Amino acid sequence: MKYQSFIGLEVHIHLLTKTKVFCRCRSAFGDEPNTNVCPVCMGYPGVLPALNIEAMRMGCMVAKALNCTIPERTWFERKQYFYPDMTKNYQISQFASPLGQDGFLELEGRGNSRGALDGKGIKRKVRIKECHLEEDAGKMIHTGTVSLLDYNRAGVSLLEIVTEPDMETGEEAEFFIQELRRMVRYLGVCDGNMEEGSLRADANVSINLPGRGLGRKVEIKNLNSSRFVRLGLNYEIRRQGEALDAGKTVVQETRLWNENRDETFPMRQKENAQDYRYFPEPDLPVFCPDKAFLSSVEKALVELPPERLKRIASEYALAEEQADLICEEKQGADYFENAVAEAEKKGLDKKTAAVRVANWFLSDIKHILHRDGIALRDISSFRLTPARLAGLVSMAASGRVSGKLAKQTVELVIAEDKDPEIIVKEKNWEQLAGVEEIAGVVKTVLAAESAAAEELRAIAELRAIAVTEKRRRTLTAYLVGKVLAATGGRADPKIAGEQITLLL
Ligand code: ADP
Ligand code: ZN
Ligand code: MG
Repeated sequence: MKYQSFIGLEVHIHLLTKTKVFCRCRSAFGDEPNTNVCPVCMGYPGVLPALNIEAMRMGCMVAKALNCTIPERTWFERKQYFYPDMTKNYQISQFASPLGQDGFLELEGRGNSRGALDGKGIKRKVRIKECHLEEDAGKMIHTGTVSLLDYNRAGVSLLEIVTEPDMETGEEAEFFIQELRRMVRYLGVCDGNMEEGSLRADANVSINLPGRGLGRKVEIKNLNSSRFVRLGLNYEIRRQGEALDAGKTVVQETRLWNENRDETFPMRQKENAQDYRYFPEPDLPVFCPDKAFLSSVEKALVELPPERLKRIASEYALAEEQADLICEEKQGADYFENAVAEAEKKGLDKKTAAVRVANWFLSDIKHILHRDGIALRDISSFRLTPARLAGLVSMAASGRVSGKLAKQTVELVIAEDKDPEIIVKEKNWEQLAGVEEIAGVVKTVLAAESAAAEELRAIAELRAIAVTEKRRRTLTAYLVGKVLAATGGRADPKIAGEQITLLL
């Protein structure tokens, strides 16, 4: 690569506070337009904002999770600009004393863009410049000749996370967004829904000859999917490279991503910090986090995905890729670990339990959840609870129920909301492992299938020659199938096979 590239992200997340950041209006997506508004968020003269402490707490949780320092004093500034989506003509934001400072996020793994990475992973430490709390603006909908305004979003708690320009490729930036998204979902402070705008990113990128430091940056604004972040950045890196190759300079500007044409286009030349005339918000006091506040932040933190993934892989002896899938959502990882613990209580050893639970969870269960329209994060309402899954796993491990009937049992657990043990009893699905009982069935089958039995007997007397060995297996399988059919699938096929040979 001829040029070196530098990427820095500014990610905005909607905090899941029930009310807005400086007033008591409801904070919700999708409500009737302009119903969640009041004099404060509509910017009437003379009204006073009051800080929503939950927003500050959630913001500090993210700051901590990103290894930031929380300063002893943090305050708000007014950022002045005129735009109809902001009735006050300024936005309350943080400028000089962001609530989180100088952190980092370590990226390690493969992200979603596996193909583009030639099988190589990503390993990079991205410094976090700051996290600051601010209010969102209203939403403008441009339709033909008119523009509509919905102020429900005006004043919603927004946390902006700003990285240093430490990334180099679109793939890394995409991975950063995905990791951050998973983190804030684990923390329960943001739903990470990029389509609804709960997580939006501005991507900054410049290129330069190696060793020359940062180039002239271009900002791609309002990217609402991590894929667009990757595509937009890689497009810009190419476009800027071609400009420099042709002896031109890159214009410092803000651009937008056109998702239909897969290219960026200019929006405006960027303002500077001075243009905003930041000054301290006189209506809000300085916030000095005390011990009680800081410990409430600590208490709300949870084990984060990268650590949890590593722990799960080593504690349960699973492949990292499997652990990664298990950790996709916190609720899924909780489900997995609870089910394993329940299976251990039923006498299974941890590793056996883990392998079986993981297999169920990552295939059948995910499939059923998807089919039944249950989001993974709502798995706590799933009728196949961790304890029930453990019951099933332990029955399958001890051979009390066959693999095929175990699957049918799951469907009935869900349909009838009953424990698997009860279903298996009611249906009389317990696997037959009693040799005598199976031998009885085998005798009947051998008598009924006399042609197959006769041929098999002849082969048995000849003793194994390659051709006949294959035929022997086919015939045995055929007869085992008959034994299974005769027992409604309940006979242990291994014992049935042994008995056929014995009783021939
Ligand atoms: P601004 O004042 O234009 O908002 P900031 O210094 O606040 O600029 O940085 C905004 C984002 O742009 C940060 O994520 C930062 O890492 C990134 N950035 C800053 N300068 C460059 C550059 N020359 N090339 C690439 N990214 C940059
Ligand atoms: Zn309000
Ligand atoms: Mg900035």
